Amino acid sequence: MNITGKTVQLGVIGCPVEHSVSPQLHNVMIERTGLDYVYSAYKVKPGEVGNALKGMKALNIRGFNVTIPHKITAYDLCDEVDLFAKKMGACNTLVNKNGVIKGYNTDGEGFVRSLAHEGVSAAGKSVIILGAGGAAQGVSMALAQEGAEKIGIINRTREKAQKLADRINKYYPNVAYVALEAEDCDILVNATSVGMNSDEMPAEVDFAKMKPDGCVCDVVYCPRETIFLKKASEAGLKTVGGIGMLINQAVAAFELFTDTKTDADTVEYLYKMTRLDKSIVLTGFMGTGKTSVGKRLCALTGAEFVDTDEIIEKETGMKIKEIFEKYGEEYFRDLEETVIMRLKDKKGAVISLGGGAVLRRKSIDALREKHVVFCLEADIDRVFENIGANTLSRPLLSGKTKEEAKALLESRKEAYDNCDWKISTTNLPKNAAADKILEIYINEVAK
Ligand code: NAP
Repeated sequence: MNITGKTVQLGVIGCPVEHSVSPQLHNVMIERTGLDYVYSAYKVKPGEVGNALKGMKALNIRGFNVTIPHKITAYDLCDEVDLFAKKMGACNTLVNKNGVIKGYNTDGEGFVRSLAHEGVSAAGKSVIILGAGGAAQGVSMALAQEGAEKIGIINRTREKAQKLADRINKYYPNVAYVALEAEDCDILVNATSVGMNSDEMPAEVDFAKMKPDGCVCDVVYCPRETIFLKKASEAGLKTVGGIGMLINQAVAAFELFTDTKTDADTVEYLYKMTRLDKSIVLTGFMGTGKTSVGKRLCALTGAEFVDTDEIIEKETGMKIKEIFEKYGEEYFRDLEETVIMRLKDKKGAVISLGGGAVLRRKSIDALREKHVVFCLEADIDRVFENIGANTLSRPLLSGKTKEEAKALLESRKEAYDNCDWKISTTNLPKNAAADKILEIYINEVAK
């Protein structure tokens, strides 16, 4: 990316903002459209939104996306608002044209576009929304605009469900109501925060009571397949995950920032980059960079990072080294295999395996059925350089000479050959290795 004095600035403001995937999504769109723009993330503390907007004008920043917790404040402080943002009373997109900041809200449109991507239309349909917070409001208002016939709101706090139904009915009379049960609907949406990084269901739902050709959606995108979607899918229903909404709200915002229309190939590219229907599995000898490459991949894709060693340590309450010392390698490999077998259906993750996991061919074969396995390779000098003084914490390297370590590495060659792809990190910085893996994933795996 070549940034010059003419480069137009975009960004996201929020608090926290470090984990936002918006910079990756927008910079991919910038790169693919060839526009002279750049997109960054700005941590703006509560109480500082007014100053951020003044700064936007003073620095001539073209556009901001707005995330938690500033969407309502941004709405209150911008100079003009678009009609849909007005219906919402919240903005997620601000466009600065000649010193006038106009607020928009693309969350709902993002949801509707994500449905369209899966061939689902809300027109004339009956919908049930679980939740009555910001996401529920965006989704339900956009579905009402799309011509949904009925929208039932179910929320833990009933008064909020009533308030949301009233707000929708103000603009789309007699569409919304407070519902008691998610039955007999065409589209069911979890728009609560339940299921985010957890295995909880947002509500007790009998999926058998939905119309058989119905569609179940989740706004939660981490994990990519929530337990809610998994159960719906097992009941034979079509499912749509929250990552599509995230992608499409960004696409709609980018179109507002740049006055362009995003082509379908770019949208597909963003899906391939972030949906990760096949998880990315990393293996390789100790010190080849699995953890740092894996974490960088997660930052690029917004995927969750899963480390089998961490799971084993958490579940046993013991350090890996202690398990080796107390029970031996085979016992550890059994534990590792059990954990890996549990991960074989897990979508949307970057899974880092211990360096010896490949020794159980069954585990790798199981992962390769639904995921893609990358083996990181490095020569023994690089391995020792990367591990540094840390060899003592590695049960199989502790006290070993370089020659002994090399012999161990070579003894695993055949097992490492059983991976889908090999990436040498001997002369490749970690970020470049992650970029290379993602490029292979997008172009060769997620085709
Ligand atoms: P919010 O305004 O705080 O609303 C949270 C909603 O979840 C409320 O309806 C709340 O019910 C409900 N809830 C929370 N904990 C619950 C529990 N234990 N049991 C039942 N209901 C519970 O949050 P939001 O901005 O709407 O965000 C909700 C989720 O949407 C988040 O996970 C967020 O990441 C996701 N999101 C995704 C996208 C996307 O592009 N995919 C966009 C925006 C948001 P009460 O009213 O009773 O508290």
